[in-house]
Amino acid sequence: MTAKANALKAQGVDVISFAAGEPDFNTPEPISDATIEAIRSGFTKYTPSSGIPALKEAIVDKLLRENHIKSEPAQIVASCGAKHALYNIFQVLLDPGDEVILIAPYWMTYADQIQLAGGKPVVVHAFQENDFQPDPENIKAAITPRTRAIVVNSPCNPTGAMLPRSSLKEIAALALRNDLWIISDEIYDRLVYGGEHQSFAALSSEVAEHTITVGGCSKTYAMTGWRLGFACAPVPIAKAIANLQDQMTSNPTSFVQKGAIVAFRLPHSDVEAMRSEFEARRDLVVKGLLNIPNVNLSVPMGAFYVLPDISAYFGKSIANDVEMADYLLDSAKVATVPGSVFEGPGRIRISYATSRSNISAGVERIREALIALD
Ligand code: PLP
Repeated sequence: MTAKANALKAQGVDVISFAAGEPDFNTPEPISDATIEAIRSGFTKYTPSSGIPALKEAIVDKLLRENHIKSEPAQIVASCGAKHALYNIFQVLLDPGDEVILIAPYWMTYADQIQLAGGKPVVVHAFQENDFQPDPENIKAAITPRTRAIVVNSPCNPTGAMLPRSSLKEIAALALRNDLWIISDEIYDRLVYGGEHQSFAALSSEVAEHTITVGGCSKTYAMTGWRLGFACAPVPIAKAIANLQDQMTSNPTSFVQKGAIVAFRLPHSDVEAMRSEFEARRDLVVKGLLNIPNVNLSVPMGAFYVLPDISAYFGKSIANDVEMADYLLDSAKVATVPGSVFEGPGRIRISYATSRSNISAGVERIREALIALD
């Protein structure tokens, strides 16, 4: 949808895009300055494949300070984005036929990466009535002798749901009892609105032994194009990931690592300015969507997405969310992503990582387009 929207924009069409999963801010200057300085000073050669020691230290410090996770540099592998970190993890953990539990709606990359590793995604659904919190009983029912891992993404793309400590504990207990890995994708850990982000690996040392935490620079520091993410895993897994990466990409870009060190040590106030703007946008988009008759949603607690239910508008002309997203782009010139992409049919995903004026105008366009269907 982003590509379609951009193609229309290139033709001069006034499109408002709610499709992209990236902050619209510029990368904070201290990060760019450190990176430019690294290039100028010749920091442009190969580095250790899993990242330079100073970056690993910065990640260890960040995990302790912000996530209350105790780790050591040997547990950290820096990769070319969290996506790369996740790809490595599935490759290392899965044998053909191994099952991985996903909680739907989920970020679609997990399912594809699991299959690329020969594994099988097993989907457990979470529902809007419960604010997209998974029911541990349903997770328990999905566990088989082939289950190897469960992926948890809190705050979640696409729902914005954030799991409380009590849910984490229940899922962790299941993982420990069944000897499963918890793959905890915490890429949106700093973009939370109201609640407090909780990390699995902070629950106990026993849980940490079963957890691989994934994070990165993309979302918190508006660095999507830089490609810098990480995994924090028990040492044998970290070693296996590092060995794999050594034969795939080698190190993440040398000078990007220098920028990432500054990012992970950025003063709280610099991140807070972006977080609070996202929160104001969250409020704006939620208010606007709830103003549309028969649209309902779960108020997102983190990340920068909302996944409203627009199925009340399905009928003669629009049969499903894919057709709805096409209709909204064609008639209202608003780009969204159909919910079924995330196994959340009947919904559209709206990314509010765009200006407040775009949000107001875009939601109004959606309202008019939906009402015209009545
Ligand atoms: N995990 C989730 C849930 C995401 O939404 C994304 C990006 O959209 C990523 C991971 C990947 O982030 P990165 O840019 O670090 O590869």
